[in-house]
Amino acid sequence: MRLPDQLLKKFWGFDRFKPHQREAIDALLAGRDILLILPTGGGKSLCYQLPALAKEGVAVVISPLLALMKDQVDACRSLGIPAACISSMAGTEENRTVMKQAQEGRLRLLYMSPERIATESALGLLNTLKISLFAVDEAHCISQWGHDFRPDYRALNSLRAHFPNVPIIALTATATARVRADIVEQLSLRKPDQHIGSFDRPNLIYSAVERSDLLPQVIGVLTQHKGESGIVYCISRANTESLAAKLVSAGYRARAYHAGMDTEERRRTQEAFLRDDIDIIVATVAFGMGIDKSNVRFVIHTALPKSLENYQQEAGRAGRDGLAADCVLFYSVGDLVQQKRFLAELPEQERATANLKLQRMLDFARTRICRHRQLVRYFDQDFPDAKCGACDICESRFAPVEALPEVADAQKIAQIVLCCVIRLKERFRSTHVALVLKGSKDKNVIAYGHDRLSTYGLLSNYVIPVIESFVRQLIDQICLVAEPEYNTLSVSPLGQHVIRGEHVPTLVFDRGAGAKLPQMRASSRAESDWEGVDKELFAALRAERLRIAVENNFPAYVVLHDSVLRDLARHKPRTPYQLLQVPGIGERKATAYGDRILSVISNHCHAVAAA
Ligand code: ADP
Ligand code: MG
Repeated sequence: MRLPDQLLKKFWGFDRFKPHQREAIDALLAGRDILLILPTGGGKSLCYQLPALAKEGVAVVISPLLALMKDQVDACRSLGIPAACISSMAGTEENRTVMKQAQEGRLRLLYMSPERIATESALGLLNTLKISLFAVDEAHCISQWGHDFRPDYRALNSLRAHFPNVPIIALTATATARVRADIVEQLSLRKPDQHIGSFDRPNLIYSAVERSDLLPQVIGVLTQHKGESGIVYCISRANTESLAAKLVSAGYRARAYHAGMDTEERRRTQEAFLRDDIDIIVATVAFGMGIDKSNVRFVIHTALPKSLENYQQEAGRAGRDGLAADCVLFYSVGDLVQQKRFLAELPEQERATANLKLQRMLDFARTRICRHRQLVRYFDQDFPDAKCGACDICESRFAPVEALPEVADAQKIAQIVLCCVIRLKERFRSTHVALVLKGSKDKNVIAYGHDRLSTYGLLSNYVIPVIESFVRQLIDQICLVAEPEYNTLSVSPLGQHVIRGEHVPTLVFDRGAGAKLPQMRASSRAESDWEGVDKELFAALRAERLRIAVENNFPAYVVLHDSVLRDLARHKPRTPYQLLQVPGIGERKATAYGDRILSVISNHCHAVAAA
């Protein structure tokens, strides 16, 4: 057996490399530079961690986020690989101790942040080490063409000059040709081997559904994932807080996360999520970069993301362990308007590009073509399979919505609605607008004196849900704009054209939200991942994992992945030897927790036999 294979089995407990891992590892061992592009969950970390074990010296890993470094260090240690990080969060003394360990050759991996590397003192210290390789993780951060440019990363362009003989591996999950070229140039990679994996994530089940009534729609997804971890992305800070509060009152263990919270609270929230103390994070996109939590079983978007690159990154946080995970996008055409506001400050050229990307994002949501195919094509790759078996289009996961009858006098109705919004001084939400149009005796309507408006009761022929749906359709067609935080309605420039009779929107009769809510069925892919798994044993193992995690102060998924727990609950190993045959259990984990796992299994089997 070759050394890389031996290390793979001994430390990670895996029998086979994933695509491109072996090639990347061989090239690094041969001292070549590498650009490695694999999807999230593709197993990039192992491509530098394994050579770090095989080569003399210490591997220096550059990673953008503290949380990410901490996670990786924990994961390495749990595999028995000596690793540590130097960070601005740790005290000088602590960092000095780490450096000393590195100098004495007691570390295999040393994680550092990019801004740290740039300093003279850090370069001086690095010069005292025998460095086996540099790994630049999330390397797209170095390029301003990427979706997550970090100026700090630019400091890395001096690495090559300072360390001409140390191989560099750059890793990322998303990179267009332009970003790739930029990475190679910025890092001065020398004729790097480029390994580009498939961008497809076969275990992610994509769905895109028009948003009608968000809360029940979100809960519809959650009921399929009871007690499982997931992320719900919202467009604004206020949205995260209000949705999190609603979910909590509906009985879910959810919490909000956004950049407006103080650092300490964010850290605690993230920690609680990583440790399974809460199940659901309701967040803005500030959350998630580099989150390595492997058992995220769903990612819900409550509005359109900025681009398919962003969508791929954000949705990609689900299912790192390779098990089925749901990625559900709830969108409305009106999201485009909101997103465009964020773009208003960009220079002309950038704004044009950003607008195009937004349009492609909306096209993705609305086009009835296999989602996997659409995504992969967007990144210039082929998708050979006719059906993916893992998206709403190929699996028809939603009951079809029948065509709704069109409203004959759409122009008149639209004008009435828009004028009413103007009469209300563009300060009220759709529910209030609908009450006024209905001619309701609601106490707020009376208190504000809105029963005296000329538009009061002009749509009294229609029931409230239908009037509300007219409003929603006018938002979708960008005649009305809902203010992002308070949802107050205002009339857009296009809406003004409608009032003047220069444009006619389309309106249909919709029996109202709720009635129209498509029912989501469980995906067949998710079901087959459970095949042969003794669910009671799985639950018992999960509980034991949590106890081990708490004792060791690790997140649970660092102890063992869900995929490993399912394999254990499927094959029920009874001896240490059988235990080591389970993929994902290496020597270190077998020694550390093997006895406890085996006794959970044997207790369970005895209990079943006795019953
Ligand atoms: P990435 O950084 O590419 O998103 P990670 O390095 O975090 O991915 O790895 C994703 C998951 O794949 C991890 O849980 C890791 O343990 C697992 N993995 C890596 N290599 C293998 C392999 N050869 N066989 C099975 N699982 C693997
Ligand atoms: Mg990674």
